[in-house]
Amino acid sequence: MGLLQLGTALDWPEAQKHADQVRKWGIKQLLEIWNKAKTKERDALLWGDEVEYLVVIYDKDQPKSLLSLRQADILDALKNDAALAALCAEGQVGGVSSGQDPLPVFHPEFGRFMLESTPGKPWGIELKELIDVEPNMKLRRVIAKDHMRSNEFPITLTTFPRLGFPGVFSDPHYPVSGPKLRSQFVPDEIANPHIRFPTLAANIRTRRGRKVQVNVPVFRDKNTPWPWKDPTVNYALHQYPEDDDVRNGAAPDNYIHMDAMAFGMGSCCLQITFQAKNITEGRQLYDQLSPLGPVLLALTAATPIYKGFLADTDVRWNQISRAVDDRTPEELGEAPLKTSRWRIPKSRYASNSTYISTDPRLRPEYFDPDLVVDETIKAELMRGGMDDLLATHFAHLFIRDPIVIFSEDLQTLDLSQTNHFENLQSTNWQHMRFKPPPPDNSIGWRVEVRPMEVQITDFENAAFAVFTVLVTRAILSFDLNFYIPLARITANMETAHKRDAVLNERFYFRKNLFRTRRRRRSPHAGDSSASGTSTPNPQSRPETPLNLGPVEDEYRLMSINEIINGTHYSVNGCREPSHIAVGEDFPGLIPLVESYLDSMNVDVKTRCQLSTYLDLIRRRASGELWTAARWIRSYVDQHPDYKHDSAVSETLTKDLVGAVIAIGERETQGTGWKGMSVPGIDKLMGGFRGCGGP
Ligand code: ADP
Ligand code: MG
Ligand code: MG
Ligand code: MG
Ligand code: MG
Ligand code: MG
Repeated sequence: MGLLQLGTALDWPEAQKHADQVRKWGIKQLLEIWNKAKTKERDALLWGDEVEYLVVIYDKDQPKSLLSLRQADILDALKNDAALAALCAEGQVGGVSSGQDPLPVFHPEFGRFMLESTPGKPWGIELKELIDVEPNMKLRRVIAKDHMRSNEFPITLTTFPRLGFPGVFSDPHYPVSGPKLRSQFVPDEIANPHIRFPTLAANIRTRRGRKVQVNVPVFRDKNTPWPWKDPTVNYALHQYPEDDDVRNGAAPDNYIHMDAMAFGMGSCCLQITFQAKNITEGRQLYDQLSPLGPVLLALTAATPIYKGFLADTDVRWNQISRAVDDRTPEELGEAPLKTSRWRIPKSRYASNSTYISTDPRLRPEYFDPDLVVDETIKAELMRGGMDDLLATHFAHLFIRDPIVIFSEDLQTLDLSQTNHFENLQSTNWQHMRFKPPPPDNSIGWRVEVRPMEVQITDFENAAFAVFTVLVTRAILSFDLNFYIPLARITANMETAHKRDAVLNERFYFRKNLFRTRRRRRSPHAGDSSASGTSTPNPQSRPETPLNLGPVEDEYRLMSINEIINGTHYSVNGCREPSHIAVGEDFPGLIPLVESYLDSMNVDVKTRCQLSTYLDLIRRRASGELWTAARWIRSYVDQHPDYKHDSAVSETLTKDLVGAVIAIGERETQGTGWKGMSVPGIDKLMGGFRGCGGP
């Protein structure tokens, strides 16, 4: 989340009138950046992570755990702590070595019960810096905790299990059904009070013409009544027109029903941003990391509970997608097109729909056949000098309306700013984001990886951050090719939602990752839009295409274990996948990362620490270890308060939160699991994993 601007936010009908102006000015700002930065070269390979937290209130002597809504106070305390700055400069904070790095940065988030942290400065290219990531994440958690009350804790569960269950789930408690969200489950005060957030939620609702519908299939346990009717839905409310939604079928049988942005944007994730050396490399990374998105989502699965019930899915993604889905009935295809401009197949929070690289290996068959593009905007960008592919990308993002418009911004267009461009860019929440350099700044072209769920401990968060970094290095070092059709990535994203997808599902993945022919560039760009389709033409083509077979022959379905560990991986000496046909061997991402590391000069200590991270990923992929989602399900299942009816009680939630806090404390202290009574902890984290320690 970027900086929060102050001003007068327009309500939807007013904002809609200015949508075209904001888009036009946004495009002018984008062209300004483009022309300034397209030739930027030799930027450093920097990267940074973002970790999001829930702030919970927990006291082992109290009957329940609540969400704390003190985000603003906590951020204030963090900002005004001169003593902390001094301690940090000395290199010791909260008993943890902080090195000589600048203070970590804490940011607000949508939920008033959330925080976000980033390192004080981005990480560099050196592999030995990777072992500073975990201590830095732990330091951030310690600092955050130090600025909370003794019964408040920053935890990294993706969602609070009881958010939205009737009764008291936050402190302070507020009544539901506020004018902005109009939710029957959460109060308006659940959102960050900065005007941007309630306006975002209200304008999405108004544009849609009804509340958002966030329905998650309920997990059917042996005592779950079937068909299951969400017992928390109130059909008798008559305060707002939107109260009719549930009477009009918004809450179908066998689904947990939620009706507000907070149910999606109130979830926590782990994001990684890379700076590329130039725009070409940025475009390459955007494309090559994109097919990995669903794999990372399935591997990090951590979201099995919503609104007090076990869900039948494991990840947060679709719930966020629905929680900010502003499409009108016409755009959704539920009504004939009259005032809306297009049918739009995806929410503005969804998996990627474009490839943007100038790589000649990018075949037209990989593009999304359903891509919707604003041709006027595309033409404007191309007149301004942008190539077809990138113009297509941004003209796709710009099919959306700007949701939050400040009237002060409509007076004059400032080409040294990016506010109008960012208005559209930062409310297109795809699983990758291509970030142009800000104006007048040393920052380069960046690519953000956004699908991962936050993990319970910083060991795991560091492991996934480091893994993503190492895969990126392997991509650049070996010029790996992960291209598959975008429609297959979209399908994989759905697959990643299934319970235990990491173990039971298979994902479309490219069979041969290595370049098989010489790169030769054609000087002419492909002919564009003669056919009237919106499929872009890659800028350069090989002059002599090899006999390219059908695209369908380039990929096949693979398990996460095959993708991560390769077809030769064995648990306890038994080679498992028996369905592998001759010639379908696959090297696996971890072995590729290992060969990359072998090719580098890595000191023993760094290599050992990196191995502990790769080992976690390897064993999550193979099923030796559990995802957080599996661990939480198992925790619920064995809890004496659980009646095998899918309901997650207050007591259970309190104990789960307590277990998560206890795990975090052990992690921070580095004392291992000995004597810990948290069920399943060994399956989640494995045993002791130090490097040459006790
Ligand atoms: P947003 O919320 O818009 O995604 P944030 O500022 O919260 O952005 O986080 C961006 C991440 O990118 C942080 O981890 C930060 O350290 C990192 N970062 C900052 N500058 C650069 C850079 N030049 N290159 C790579 N990463 C960067
Ligand atoms: Mg964030
Ligand atoms: Mg951020
Ligand atoms: Mg931002
Ligand atoms: Mg209220
Ligand atoms: Mg981010």
